[in-house]
This record gives sequence, C-alpha cells and structure tokens, in this order.
Amino acid sequence: MRFVSTRGNAPAATLSDAINAGLAPDGGLYVPENMPHLSPDDFPQGLSLAQTAAYLLAPFFAGDALAPELKAICAEAFAFDAPHRALAMPGAHVLELFHGPTAAFKDFGARFLAACMRRLRADATRPLTILVATSGDTGAAVGAAFHRVPGMRVAILYPDHRVSPRQAHQLGSFGDNVDALRVAGSFDDCQRMVKAALGDRQLQADVPMSSANSISLGRLLPQMAYYAHAALNHWRRTHDALNVMVPTGNLGNAVACLWVRAMGLPVGEVMFACNANDTLPQFYAGAPYRGRDAIATIANAMDVGAPSNFERLAHLFGGEDAARANGHAQSVDDAEIRDVVRRHALSDGEIYCPHTATAIRVLERQRLAGDHRAWTVVATAHPAKFDTIVEPLVGRPIRVPDALGAMLDRPAYAAPMAADHGVFHHWLRHGRAA
Ligand SMILES: *Cc1c(COP(=O)(O)O)cnc(C)c1O
Repeated sequence: MRFVSTRGNAPAATLSDAINAGLAPDGGLYVPENMPHLSPDDFPQGLSLAQTAAYLLAPFFAGDALAPELKAICAEAFAFDAPHRALAMPGAHVLELFHGPTAAFKDFGARFLAACMRRLRADATRPLTILVATSGDTGAAVGAAFHRVPGMRVAILYPDHRVSPRQAHQLGSFGDNVDALRVAGSFDDCQRMVKAALGDRQLQADVPMSSANSISLGRLLPQMAYYAHAALNHWRRTHDALNVMVPTGNLGNAVACLWVRAMGLPVGEVMFACNANDTLPQFYAGAPYRGRDAIATIANAMDVGAPSNFERLAHLFGGEDAARANGHAQSVDDAEIRDVVRRHALSDGEIYCPHTATAIRVLERQRLAGDHRAWTVVATAHPAKFDTIVEPLVGRPIRVPDALGAMLDRPAYAAPMAADHGVFHHWLRHGRAA
C-alpha cells in the first residue's frame, strides 16, 4: 500500500516514509492511495482489540518495512480496552476510549506512533526531538507514549494558564527525555513556534526534529481500530451497522471512523458533535468551508476553528459538496454542556467529561426530533481529567483512575518560555540550561 497527498502534488510514499514525514511535501495530508476493502467475515470471532487492529491495519502495512512488526506494534499500542456498553438512555451505547495512561483517546494514536517511530529509528545515531503543541490532551498522550524511549526526546509546548490544572500537572510530570514548556501565549502561538522550528533548515540540521500532531498517519490509522472492533461486535449481535456520534475538534477521530466505513465494515451514520466552534456545523448547514480563529470553551480539546483533517474528509468523498451531502455536524454551547453533565449525574448517575457531553447533547436533540435509531456515543476523556469543571456541576468528587492518579502523584515541572521563535530555537539547541 502506498500513500498519496490530499493535494495531489507529492510523490506517493511508503507507510514508513509517510509516518516519518508527518506532512506531505506539498503541504497536504497523507491518505491511502486506494481504500482497502474488508468484510466482517475477514475477522475471526472473539478477537481482542489489539488483534482486531492487526487484521484491520494489515492491508495498510502491506509491503512496508514495518509490516512484520504490525502485531507487536498493535500489542504495545492497544494494551488497554475500549469498552462498549449500554447507557440508561434507550438505544444508546457509549464507547469508552479513556482507559489509557493519560485518560483520553489520544493515548491510542500516540502509543501506536511511538511504537512505529521507535522501530523506524532503531539504527539512527542522533536523537530525534518530537515537537508537540498542545491544548492539553495531545501533549500528555505523546509525552507518556515516548517517555524513556531510547533515541527520542519530546518538547511539549502548551499555553500557560489555558489548560486544566490536572492537564498542566500531567504535562510536567514526565521528566527524563520529556520537557514541558509553558508558553506565555495562546495555543496558536505554540503551534506557530513548532511550525517555525520544523521549517528551519539550519535548525533541523543541528537538531533533528519531527512532530506528533493529529495529522500524522501514525496516529490516524490506529484510531480506526476501536470503531472496527465495536462495529464488528455490534454486527454479530444485531446485524445492524453502528451509528456513531463523535465529539470533534480536528476531525482526526471522526475521519478514522469514516475510513472504517469506507473499507466496507458495518459503520452506519457518523455525526460530529462540536462545541461552540461551529466551523463544521456551518459547513454542513450549507456554507462554504471557512476556517476561523478558535474560541475558548469548557471542552477545550475541541477548541479548533480550522480542523486540520478537513482535507482528508473532502478527499474521502471526492470534494466538499459530496462531503457535505454525506455528513452532519451540530454545535453545542457551554451552557448545554454544563446542563448535560449536571442532569445526567442526577438522573442516571453517568458522569461525562465536557467533550463527551457534547455528543450526548446531540443524541438528545436527535431523540427530540424523532430519531429512534441505536447510537453509540464516543467518550473521548475521563471526567476526572476535568475535575475543576465537572465536580462543581455534579456536587461530589470524581474517582481518579489509577494511571492518572499515579501521574498526579509525581512532581511536575514546566519551564517558562516566551512566545518567541528565537528563544525557542536557542532552547532546542542548548537544552534545559537555556
Ligand atoms: C482531541 C480531543 C477531541 C477531539 O478529537 P479530534 O480528533 O481532534 O477531532 C475530543 N475530545 C477529547 C477529550 C480530546 O482530547
């Protein structure tokens, strides 16, 4: 299998090269040259999530240097489950993606990417520095996945005071080869600093760098696995396709779900739940696609005004109009998110993180509009990660998952950093002492 750019102006790449490169040389995003097809019968019964991932991803790895390692990579990345369970709401299930070390779904992608990169760099003589700008969850997942991996160093940049206190603690808790930098600026400033560093040839020559953001194929492909696993089990029980409600920011998680459907597996409708950042809802309501600045909400991991995977969405359907005809997105504001969290804690005892709550709200709207189909809501983070928002709403402490608790018990340190390219480049060259 080879991978081509969404912009069509770059040579086709092997999987290994696409994972190493991140972005295609024409500025586009890598997508499979042809979508492979699988049917439910291609999967033996009773597979674990890791085994399902290995079957599902085999066609994408075919012919690549990493192919013989795929099973081991999946075993490393999918070392925890993604439970799919019924909710008290009739006809509703939840797919819980927050049982990894940092309690958000990004653990799957980050661990898979780390498992791939570690193998691709096995013979490298100089360490590779992974740069990651984060509004919270990505940085923690990447830090945890690459922590103490030989030959790798990670620099996490996050906007000071704009992530939750527990997110900030997580980001600073790794140490060793993972540095956290709290930037005096916004998430956009962090992203600009990362882009400028990656694009600086002289700096690249001195300090080999790569990124681990959500456009990386090495993060997108593994995110298909939990949808395939849930859809196959649902299909065997009901012979129905799985309808999925995805809390959406950069569209990475949602595109992975659509790719599973495009492979011919039993995924039905896929709906995107957004926060007050309504670029996608506006697009699906008929407006031309227009990226804009993000606004801050209490579902901060979805504060995205220009979803970076939109290009993959348009490419998948063969253009923006076709994409629009094949999807649906709704926007949920902070007041509604708070209402969902408060109301469900009281009525059925479910405690949702603010991101998951957006999808619950969209499902409730569908029910009010007469939609009686079965739906699966994707739970993207554990509510304990957002305790300062959720606990006041539900009026009691939330139990902290063990892995997250262990991280919060460690000391944390993040170096202050000006939102300035020069200062950052100096730091990259000279390390902690800068
Ligand atoms: C990253 C994130 C999202 C958004 O996922 P995308 O792939 O960017 O659409 C939603 N919820 C949580 C908790 C996240 O960390």
